[in-house]
Amino acid sequence: MIAGFWEAEVRAHFSWILKKFLKLREVARCMFLPSVDWNLVRDKWIWDKVRICRDKVRWHKIIWFPAHIPKFSLISWMAILDRLSTKDRLIRFGLTMDADCVVCGTGLESRDHLFADCPFSREVWNAVLSSCGFRSVMLNWDDRLNWLIDNLRGNSLRVRILKLAWTAFLYYIWEERNYRSFRGLSRSVDCIVNRIRESVKIKLYSHCMHRIDDVNRSLCIS
Ligand SMILES: [Zn+2]
Repeated sequence: MIAGFWEAEVRAHFSWILKKFLKLREVARCMFLPSVDWNLVRDKWIWDKVRICRDKVRWHKIIWFPAHIPKFSLISWMAILDRLSTKDRLIRFGLTMDADCVVCGTGLESRDHLFADCPFSREVWNAVLSSCGFRSVMLNWDDRLNWLIDNLRGNSLRVRILKLAWTAFLYYIWEERNYRSFRGLSRSVDCIVNRIRESVKIKLYSHCMHRIDDVNRSLCIS
């Protein structure tokens, strides 16, 4: 029995997924709202999530895959579970605040809006899809997730690149939201797309996935 997720030491008999979560604790602390009271999100909440992740879920392989980038996968996992601190959730928890999306200035800031319906993030995602050789389609969050689950199968270079790009997209959109909310900084669509490209490019080269073909040439060399 672990007394507390945030203080627990990694033990040899822990499952691989629990060891992964424990290693990602510091990343998680940095990515959430600075004002979160961590005493409120301790054992039961995180154990529930661990149990969910240990179950066979359809989206598992588009989040946790060989050569994944841990901080990207963590944010993606939180997004899929709808556990990021978006304004709609904070308001449901009783906080009083402006509910508008800080990225586009229109629409309620929710997971579905921020990562799928928001014009800014839609433009970023369409650019990423286009770079990977896929046609842009207007999809809501649920339909996009199902599309990714259905299409990101196998181990082809294109699949590996788009998995990396998908998790990078979620990470950088969330980072952009936090930059605008807490730092007063805003970046352009092109800047976010370039960050995604750069992250994928670095990972490709570090994992010997640097075979040049139309996909990674389009995504990384532009
Ligand atoms: Zn928006």
